[in-house]
Amino acid sequence: MAEIDVLVIGAGVLGLCCAVELERRGHGVQVVDPGGRNASWVAAGMIAPALESAIEDVTPARAALLRRARDLWPDLAEAKGIELHRRPAEWRGEGADVIADRLAALGFSVCHERGRVVTDDDWQVDCPAALDALRKALGRPVMAAKIEALAAHDGGWSATLSDGGSLAARTIILATGAAEAIRGLPARVAALVSAVEPVRGQIGWTAAALADHVVRGPGGYLAPQGGGTLIGATMDARRRDQAPDAASSEALVAAAARLAPLDPVAPIDWRVGVRGATSDGLPLAGPSGEPGLHLALAPRRNGWLLGPLVGRVVADGIEGRPGEPALDPLRF
Ligand SMILES: Cc1cc2nc3c(=O)[nH]c(=O)nc-3n(C[C@H](O)[C@H](O)[C@H](O)COP(=O)(O)OP(=O)(O)OC[C@H]3O[C@@H](n4cnc5c(N)ncnc54)[C@H](O)[C@@H]3O)c2cc1C
Repeated sequence: MAEIDVLVIGAGVLGLCCAVELERRGHGVQVVDPGGRNASWVAAGMIAPALESAIEDVTPARAALLRRARDLWPDLAEAKGIELHRRPAEWRGEGADVIADRLAALGFSVCHERGRVVTDDDWQVDCPAALDALRKALGRPVMAAKIEALAAHDGGWSATLSDGGSLAARTIILATGAAEAIRGLPARVAALVSAVEPVRGQIGWTAAALADHVVRGPGGYLAPQGGGTLIGATMDARRRDQAPDAASSEALVAAAARLAPLDPVAPIDWRVGVRGATSDGLPLAGPSGEPGLHLALAPRRNGWLLGPLVGRVVADGIEGRPGEPALDPLRF
């Protein structure tokens, strides 16, 4: 069996960003994923250091990290043919004063008029299209399979596939989102993966063009996508159930109606994604502490924003360069 240089398990935004960055650096990469809609597909694609920092009331250091992650997007988007929408993003309604003050204090652009706060510092991608572009950019197509088990052997890893086949790899990147730990992981890595908290998110898509830029407000947001609009999104900690529920739909419609007039009979396609989260809200990106095993997990609600940064940090870790202390998987 030919040994793969780097096996990436998971084709969400984190796995694909790691894969394209490693290929750019000349590594041989194989991505494996059973397919289907993941959290990355469901997401709104906001590349939003400014409003995320203001809403979450983060420290200046955290805001600077998010801004640094955003600033990696133009090069990635250009290289891989991803459309990066640099239209303004808005906060509308209650809390506008606080959001405006926080944006200004953190050094983000801000224009505040009559209950509306607009920043030029947040951008957006169309997630299904961006995932497609990242997949197509890979030298080897994503292999449609689930990894059932991993085992370390001298100088590498073997991975058992769902169809009973196996792969050998020198290096593994676990980019499995909020999924449970794969059988055979060393105990301390399994513990890190098991500590990742699932955070269910429900979001709806309507063909109606309700907003031509991201509009956020208390309890919800509108984000243009695929010619229509996404109505997002819930954050339900410790839930991984995948079926849309009526209570979430109702709450999101009520929040959206405060942002734009909604047609009460227009159909909404409700979707659910499960994000992985750590206790400090930042991902686990870099060496796991076990030889040849690296993590790209748990970016919570900022996986798209942080994807290119995670890709770089993980690639640096594989090449033996220093990582990003704030994302170090062993920081807890
Ligand atoms: C409703 C919603 C809205 C969001 N909006 C935004 C936003 O606007 N901006 C933003 O930055 N972020 C947003 N997010 C967050 C973002 O989507 C996530 O942080 C990100 O998608 C996580 O990416 P990931 O690659 O870690 O996981 P995922 O996208 O879940 O991918 C993990 C992949 O691993 C695969 N996998 C799991 N186990 C195995 C296995 N054993 N073998 C092989 N493959 C396996 C799965 O099939 C899956 O494809 C949103 C999330 C949700 C749910």
